[in-house]
Amino acid sequence: MFDALTGLYSRAYVIERAALLLNSSCTAALFINLDDFRRVNETAGYESGDRVLRAVAHRLAGAARAGDLIARSGSDEFLVLIDRCEAAELARYAQRVIALIGAPFAIDGQYFTVGASVGIAFRSEGGIDTGGLVRNAEMAMRTAKRRGRNRLQFFTQDIQGEMERRIKIESALPQALAQGEFALAWQPIVEREPVRTVCAEALLRWTHGELGAISPAQFVPIAERTGLIERLGDWVLEQACVRAEQWRWSVAPDLCVAVNISPLQLNRRFVSKVAHILESSGLSPAALELEITEGAPLPDTSAVISSMSAIAGMGVKFVIDDFGTGFSSLSYLRRFAVHGLKIDRSFVAGLPHESRSIAIVEGMLKIAHSMGLTVTAEGVETQEQAECLRDYGVDRLQGFLFGRPLEHAGFIDDFRRRAGRDSQAL
Ligand code: C2E
Ligand code: MG
Ligand code: MG
Repeated sequence: MFDALTGLYSRAYVIERAALLLNSSCTAALFINLDDFRRVNETAGYESGDRVLRAVAHRLAGAARAGDLIARSGSDEFLVLIDRCEAAELARYAQRVIALIGAPFAIDGQYFTVGASVGIAFRSEGGIDTGGLVRNAEMAMRTAKRRGRNRLQFFTQDIQGEMERRIKIESALPQALAQGEFALAWQPIVEREPVRTVCAEALLRWTHGELGAISPAQFVPIAERTGLIERLGDWVLEQACVRAEQWRWSVAPDLCVAVNISPLQLNRRFVSKVAHILESSGLSPAALELEITEGAPLPDTSAVISSMSAIAGMGVKFVIDDFGTGFSSLSYLRRFAVHGLKIDRSFVAGLPHESRSIAIVEGMLKIAHSMGLTVTAEGVETQEQAECLRDYGVDRLQGFLFGRPLEHAGFIDDFRRRAGRDSQAL
């Protein structure tokens, strides 16, 4: 019935007894998950973590209206069941909860700050039971987390649809490889001058029988979380190297291939995998670039550094993808042996007029070139952007202006057409 640590009700108890305890049926549920709570446990120990949780419970009790039910729902999760309340009032309530939880906690002379992601589900006439209401509030909370944390989010039918799709994706992913549902699309990377395709980036595509095309931005994080990324990453690398070697023999002897890898793949096993794939495909290591996104954290462990050096030692190049979007852009350049970087398309989008984007691009180029790195601009969509980037001295360009990602036959047709055009131009 009660949670031993905080003295609040337990989740199961309030859901079961809501009708009785609230004097009428519950009209809304607030689901609260603390942001960054793990950091408190990790930096100050579980004892301090427990004290923060008790203090959160205390603050929640202070914010509640008479008659509301407050429960602890999980380790760092809380639940408020509310009787008779308007949507606007609920939003104000949730904002107050976020502000209260966001104020620092003083524990033994140390200050800790956590945030709160709050999901709200509102019951219109009739409809679902309290358990369903709480599940909806929890779904809304997960969306609040994904959309940037420390915010409130009302439950909507769209959120439910999105959540159902995510669940289907997650359960279909493990079989998708065996069922042959993955394919690679290829996008050209061109040299600045003369415009010439020098590299092809392999982009993973998944077409599911029922869900249709699923974006890698959606399934790669799931594969990372579930550990499938290693097998999937091996498959991509192998396919890409075999295809690239075929092209180098038949039409494009100097073409190199860029393969995206997750930081989670960078272990000892991957070193031997790369060596094996290069040997079996016959691809020259100098023709392979591995792109590591800056969006996901790269653990600065000696194991990662030694794996990267071993792979770089074979002659393979590393490139930092989406440069400028993560938190550690510059320290990446200092710590890891990289050959180049790709300026994220969010900066390119602001060219040629937005002064802040111009300043950032110029700054990145200055730093990269002074370190001898090759700079590629991603997401180039207009001639104006391309000209501007060329003027600033970007080495390579990529984007819809030069070619969209295409399956291999389409890519090579385009490659031939472009090569023909270039040779006529000379
Ligand atoms: P990325 O590696 O930065 O790839 C560039 C993304 O931008 C691709 O999206 C591409 O289709 C898109 N793009 C290219 N040019 C333009 C443009 O001019 N305008 C716009 N608006 N978009 C452009 P895609 O294929 O959906 O891939 C998204 C991300 O998923 C990739 O970003 C990469 O981080 C990840 N990804 C893709 N394939 C793999 C893979 O095999 N392994 C891993 N670990 N991640 C992958
Ligand atoms: Mg990439
Ligand atoms: Mg990118």
